[in-house]
Amino acid sequence: MTQPKWRSERLSQLGSSIFAEVAAWKLSALESGLDIIDLGIGSPDQPPSPAVRQALSEAALRADMYAYPATKSGLPFRQHAAKWMKHRFDVELDPASEIVTLLGSQDGLAHLAMALCDPGDTVLLPNPGYPIYTASLALAGVEAVLMPLREENDYMPDLEAISDTDWDRATFILLNYPNNPISAVADPAFFERLLAKARQHGVLVVHDLAYSEMGFDGCEPISILEVPGAIDQAVEFHSLSKSFNMAGCRIGFLAGNKEAVAALRELKANIDYGVFDPVQEAGIVALEEAIANPEMPKAGKLYEQRRDVFLQALSDEGWSIAAPKATMFIWAKLPPMQWSQDEPWNSRRISQEMLRQTGVVVVPGEAFGTEGEGYVRIALVENEERLLEAAKRIGSFIRGQG
Ligand SMILES: *Cc1c(COP(=O)(O)O)cnc(C)c1O
Repeated sequence: MTQPKWRSERLSQLGSSIFAEVAAWKLSALESGLDIIDLGIGSPDQPPSPAVRQALSEAALRADMYAYPATKSGLPFRQHAAKWMKHRFDVELDPASEIVTLLGSQDGLAHLAMALCDPGDTVLLPNPGYPIYTASLALAGVEAVLMPLREENDYMPDLEAISDTDWDRATFILLNYPNNPISAVADPAFFERLLAKARQHGVLVVHDLAYSEMGFDGCEPISILEVPGAIDQAVEFHSLSKSFNMAGCRIGFLAGNKEAVAALRELKANIDYGVFDPVQEAGIVALEEAIANPEMPKAGKLYEQRRDVFLQALSDEGWSIAAPKATMFIWAKLPPMQWSQDEPWNSRRISQEMLRQTGVVVVPGEAFGTEGEGYVRIALVENEERLLEAAKRIGSFIRGQG
């Protein structure tokens, strides 16, 4: 295919086209009249709390809320973010210099490499990984060194398997626990080893903590900034999208090392003029509410119940999957299936066929990198009744193929 005139080469490097493919499969399934149960995209299906919606609407009615947000200090939101970090993780942060507000953490993830690296630099990324990680490097002309996350290592990267050369030339290492798509959780000992290794090689550790409020069975995901001295070597992304069901509001923040925070703030000052002030007001209320009501059920509670219901139903159908300790995702190793056709057996083909036959949308693991082959990611973003129905359909699909 010849390159269209008004389309950069860069766009073709934005990573996986599989999400677009899944969307196309879904469309054709819809057109064929199938009842679709969409467990594809991880967008929370619940609204923010009433107090958050009230704050947003009241602020939207005020006349002084419509200037470019950047004309104000934006300090109140960052102060509340700092208070919440103290409350939730016992981490002390200076709101003025150690926090930058973002239009969702995706905004920061997309721009971080551009702010910290020069073209030709290197960054260590997880495989599988959340798609914006590789896309942001492509935008910045930065090279990725991929670290496999495998079951035998509890889905942690093998830090010793990364060569000293790769450690030495990397600007930063990016990790994400609780993990999307794998749902694995990290412990403090891992973060300590990671920080020690990074310090030894002068590498910044970037941690994406989008699922801090979605731990199950009493698991409280930790911040890497809890490790003493981490602030010298690490930054962490936080998102109100999953934690407070505010995905559509587009608000999050980066916290940690001053230098890295300042670099991202400087780049963003040239790109956007900040988060809409009513959204910042709503975000303040979400954080305040969480601080004032530690007994309030966290966003994860709902997904924990759904996980139990769904995994039990799938197990009854003959497909047993280990229960994740966090996030809204099930990372499911595909059962062995026999194909009548000569088609190659892979997660992409199986996801497509399953959608065509059952109307259940899942994401093939390879959408997140080569290490995802053999898995699918199932997002628990429909209610229990629909999840039970999905499990039933998946069960008969698997038996039909077995
Ligand atoms: C959802 C998600 C994000 C993006 O969150 P926003 O704050 O809505 O931009 C970032 N990282 C991971 C791993 C996610 O799953």
